[in-house]
Amino acid sequence: MSASNLRELLIEELKDIYDAEQRITKALPKMAKAADSQELKTAFQEHLRQTEQQIKRLEQVFDELDEPAKRKECKAMVGLLEEGEELMDEEDNPSDVLDAGLITAAQKVEHYEMAAYGSLRTWADLLGESKVVNLLQTTLDEEGETDKKLTEIAQSLNIEAMQGEDMEMGEGEEVPVRATKRNHRSS
Ligand code: FE
Ligand code: FE
Ligand code: FE
Repeated sequence: MSASNLRELLIEELKDIYDAEQRITKALPKMAKAADSQELKTAFQEHLRQTEQQIKRLEQVFDELDEPAKRKECKAMVGLLEEGEELMDEEDNPSDVLDAGLITAAQKVEHYEMAAYGSLRTWADLLGESKVVNLLQTTLDEEGETDKKLTEIAQSLNIEAMQGEDMEMGEGEEVPVRATKRNHRSS
């Protein structure tokens, strides 16, 4: 990647996330299809609609900066989505365990996006591009909300996944919820 100043770095990284978002729109329908929980399916479908808006928002950002909207392969997103694919290809996983894995895969994607949009927003601010800051902040907030929602879904689904295991639990005995929450503490 060649960038001799912050503005060029901003443009280069915008191309990266523009590519990443488009890859995500291809992956989310597959993840919604693979998910067993209706709540999780709905969350993926809702985030697909948001992601489509985020792509339009990035096009507004390019426009605002007088740059053509171009994609540059985001190798990280290729890899993250491949990991999700691997999970879905595995046919023997019980559905609640698959859901737990899908949530983690999705949260890894959200955290990548949050890191990217956080930096992009900060650079745009330093460059005095206030309209661009607003557009990027809106998307950053959506990614953060999605991450939180996935954490909430995980808290109930992980309990189901654990109960599916041969844990020899007594009648009315409860799975330790705190342990589950600790694994999915939101950032
Ligand atoms: Fe996104
Ligand atoms: Fe990337
Ligand atoms: Fe996202």
